[in-house]
Amino acid sequence: MSFVLHGLAVSQGIAIGYAHLVSHATFEVAQYQVKERDIEAELIRFDDALAAVHAELGVLKVEAGASPGAPAELSAFVDLHAMILTDPLLAEVPRQLIRERRCNAEWALVQQLEQITAQFDEIEDAYLRERKHDIVQVVERVLKVLLGHGHKIGRRGRDEDIIIVAHDLSPADTIQFKQLKIGGFVTDLGGATSHTAIVARSLAIPAVVGLHHARPLIRDEDLLIVDGTRGVLIVDPDHRVLQEYRLRKSELEIERNKLKRLRTSRSITLDGETIQLCANIEVPQDIEKVKEVDAAGIGLFRTEFLFMNRDELPGEDEQFEAYRSVVKALPGKPVTIRSLDLGADKTARALRGVARIEPNPALGMRAIRYCLAEPHIFLAQLRAILRASHYGQVRLLVPMLAHAHEIEQTLAMVSLAKEQLRDAKVKFDDSLEIGGMIEIPAAALALGPFLKHLDFLSIGTNDLIQYTLAIDRTDEAVAYLYDELHPAVLRLVALTIAGGRRAGLPVALCGEMAGDPGLTRLLLGMGLRQLSMHPAQLLEVKQKVMKSDCALLRGRVARLLRQEDPVRQREQLIKINAV
Ligand code: PEP
Ligand code: MG
Repeated sequence: MSFVLHGLAVSQGIAIGYAHLVSHATFEVAQYQVKERDIEAELIRFDDALAAVHAELGVLKVEAGASPGAPAELSAFVDLHAMILTDPLLAEVPRQLIRERRCNAEWALVQQLEQITAQFDEIEDAYLRERKHDIVQVVERVLKVLLGHGHKIGRRGRDEDIIIVAHDLSPADTIQFKQLKIGGFVTDLGGATSHTAIVARSLAIPAVVGLHHARPLIRDEDLLIVDGTRGVLIVDPDHRVLQEYRLRKSELEIERNKLKRLRTSRSITLDGETIQLCANIEVPQDIEKVKEVDAAGIGLFRTEFLFMNRDELPGEDEQFEAYRSVVKALPGKPVTIRSLDLGADKTARALRGVARIEPNPALGMRAIRYCLAEPHIFLAQLRAILRASHYGQVRLLVPMLAHAHEIEQTLAMVSLAKEQLRDAKVKFDDSLEIGGMIEIPAAALALGPFLKHLDFLSIGTNDLIQYTLAIDRTDEAVAYLYDELHPAVLRLVALTIAGGRRAGLPVALCGEMAGDPGLTRLLLGMGLRQLSMHPAQLLEVKQKVMKSDCALLRGRVARLLRQEDPVRQREQLIKINAV
């Protein structure tokens, strides 16, 4: 039966394909029906996986006992995991589910995990509540064994048509799609500037989030249309709708291909202002897309994605290689490497239990706060960035600064990293520029220390809006309040631009606003000359730049900024864009 769901449009375009249901946020698990005659084999597969993990834990325990350096708790920890593994809740209930629902073992296990974790979330005692992570880790081990037998996405021979359907996806889940061919994705939760949505845009795959009930209503292999421009999901479309969307999809492809002609055009306005259009990247592999659109450089390298989906932190050498590969791929162009911005919705498995990062403290230990609290991790990254600076035009960008003492401490850490490299006779660019992100309202309102100590500013509107309007950017329930045109937001952006201009400091904007062609003229009129966005958005923004006149926009935008009435303000913006 055909039906339509409405959510938040977060990544433009149209995808037509088959549903692939993903269960728990961190587990890509497909659901499929097992034939009656195969149920016994499925139960054996499940039991074998449990036995394999049991053996794995046995080896771990022996190794822990034999290693003099192993912490004393390790053995107790392994015992606890072995106990969890044999608990009937994990060892028996999934077997019942396999039998009763004729579902695959992975699915049964993850269903049961969700039940258990929901019960744990209710527990008052913090210590007991934390044991949930142990259960998740044990299940992860079992799933790894089960998935090792060939049920992962990307091995089904029809990759282009896969549409991921999930209750929620973390940025760490989504970044893995870069290695797979995914047509699009839809989720029940999520906000338009969550990092999950940002990664979707960087992949240029259509996505709709905040659908509320998509996952329970959709079955694996249902035919879906994802309209990422309108925020619509059509399940099991009829022939006529399907034809119409196929047509619209091919029209969009033609338009996108036409834009490619702008690749070599200069990004210059009608009145001769050069606008620097840089790219935002998450991983070094994104460079291919950056080259395809001939971006002026990298305005934001979100290095935290190098830290996700792994059990060990990347060491200094590995980071250095990653940064250097980007720098060498773009000779003569600036590469702005942002120091670690983990925390809030961006978590890293390797830091679980090591650092004080909670799943979602948007106001907590994230970004520079975390780096200053964990100096060995920060210093390793700073050394890696400095080493890469020897090979090109590297700039360091520091996220989430608000206090003068944070800037001073950061600079002291950079000096220390330099000193360590000098002692080790390792080359780096001593004049590496250091910039700060303006993404906390306090920073925009009190720019003094930024202007005094730093070389450039980059406005992070995603967080600036989140913190100014007090709305969680990952929460679809308050997504309707997310408003980049709110007078308070625009005033903070204007203050930053004016402050930078007075002090002679370049100001860029690297939040999602930069990639929205509907806002390009507004930003130019406000005085911005450097924008950084996903490569997939760059040519459309360039097209807008080439049709704009900065001198003309200045007066019009000044009038718009004085407008307090949101309806009139939007009307003014429409007029500005229509000229
Ligand atoms: C921002 O906050 O606008 C930004 C660019 O950083 P991120 O989206 O990674 O938080
Ligand atoms: Mg930010």
